[in-house]
Amino acid sequence: MRTYEQSIAKHQAAKQHLAGGVASSLRASMKPTPLYAKSAKAACITDVDGNTYIDYLLAYGPLILGHAHDGLNESIHQALLNGATYGLQHDGEIKLADLLTEVLPCAEKVSLSGSGTEAVMLALRLSRAYTNKTKVVRFHGHYHGWSDSIFTSFPSSDMSQKASDDRAAAIPPGTFGQSENSLDDIILLPWNDPEALESTLRTRGHEIAAVITEPVMCNSGCIQPKAGYLALMRKLTQELNIVMIMDEVITGFRLSLGGAHGRFDIRPDLVVIGKAMGGGIAISAVAGNAEIMKLVDEGKVSHLGTLNGNCVSTAAAIATISHLAQDNGAAYKHMETLFTELADGIRALLSKHSIPGVVNQIGPVMHMMFIDAIEVNDFETFNKRDAAQYTRFAELMLEEGVLLRPNGLWYISTAHQSAEIEATLRAMDRVFVQLTL
Ligand code: PLP
Repeated sequence: MRTYEQSIAKHQAAKQHLAGGVASSLRASMKPTPLYAKSAKAACITDVDGNTYIDYLLAYGPLILGHAHDGLNESIHQALLNGATYGLQHDGEIKLADLLTEVLPCAEKVSLSGSGTEAVMLALRLSRAYTNKTKVVRFHGHYHGWSDSIFTSFPSSDMSQKASDDRAAAIPPGTFGQSENSLDDIILLPWNDPEALESTLRTRGHEIAAVITEPVMCNSGCIQPKAGYLALMRKLTQELNIVMIMDEVITGFRLSLGGAHGRFDIRPDLVVIGKAMGGGIAISAVAGNAEIMKLVDEGKVSHLGTLNGNCVSTAAAIATISHLAQDNGAAYKHMETLFTELADGIRALLSKHSIPGVVNQIGPVMHMMFIDAIEVNDFETFNKRDAAQYTRFAELMLEEGVLLRPNGLWYISTAHQSAEIEATLRAMDRVFVQLTL
């Protein structure tokens, strides 16, 4: 039986001066307690109580090379030796911008920020400036960061669901402290619904600056776009002078070197990337059409940030992307093969234990849910999953030495190996017995 005494004590101590006791609200939801990490290497992480886990949380997505990757660490150390940040320009920015335009199919020009939230803010600002329109279409179940102009509550809660029932009604703020009208420019639509998209864009296109979409609904069930849906979005946005923004903060450098837009062969006007791009160091980017990005060159659209493009973050991104680009996509084949094996293994175990559940997996990202359904292809069905049972399951898996995000989203890194996948499935077999008692 594992104990979490040190983590519990540290969390109590943290609460005294750290608001919420954690640095990002979401982290407070981990059961039985938010864990305190001591060290990590490759696919494993060890907490302050000495428990070691196979890690599928992977810091909520960025650790695509696993923990403490030697090559990445070496690049970061080298950068630090010459100074972490200058507030002046340096070669790393040029090298990274060149690399991004080389590997991302839609990127003619890029701009660097520190987080996904900031990059989304820039993409929206560029879209409004470019089209001279203000409204933005976004979708139920998607998440685009926590800035006031787009935050509708985290997708796993019910609030975004309520808003869907009455499209004309004001969209409620996602949190206390967000002004009542901060979402007035947002039009919230069901995703993967070609009719809703086409009718809204055709009737309101004259006031819509942008459509922002996750290319795969990773934040709610890892649901894939229906055949032709993203192509329709591309066609309509082009026709109606609306900027198409793909929010690839999760999928960028995860679904392929060229992100989801490379994998699906769709060219949005702008993509937003973050998370995996820096391998665990804070960096994000907007990349896309030079005509739109030119607004930054011309000084028409302000893009600011004290630490944007700092030496450590650019070195980390260059090292991460270069590593992923080696050997003709071998890293992606490795992750995809292992995760497919894991997803198939989980499905077999669900069936063996007669537990109703669905596993949606695409490449190195997957969502596992307990739900009485054959498949989960829309947000409405996703909302019927048994989230409480999953939280209990994640807690039991922790006992077995497997670290999972409590909401069902799993990531894999290049550092994971078959032995870890097999150990995870053995642990799950035991946990499913307890879950059905
Ligand atoms: N967009 C998507 C699709 C995300 O999943 C996230 C974070 O999870 C963000 C944007 C915000 O990124 P960040 O947390 O780096 O601000």
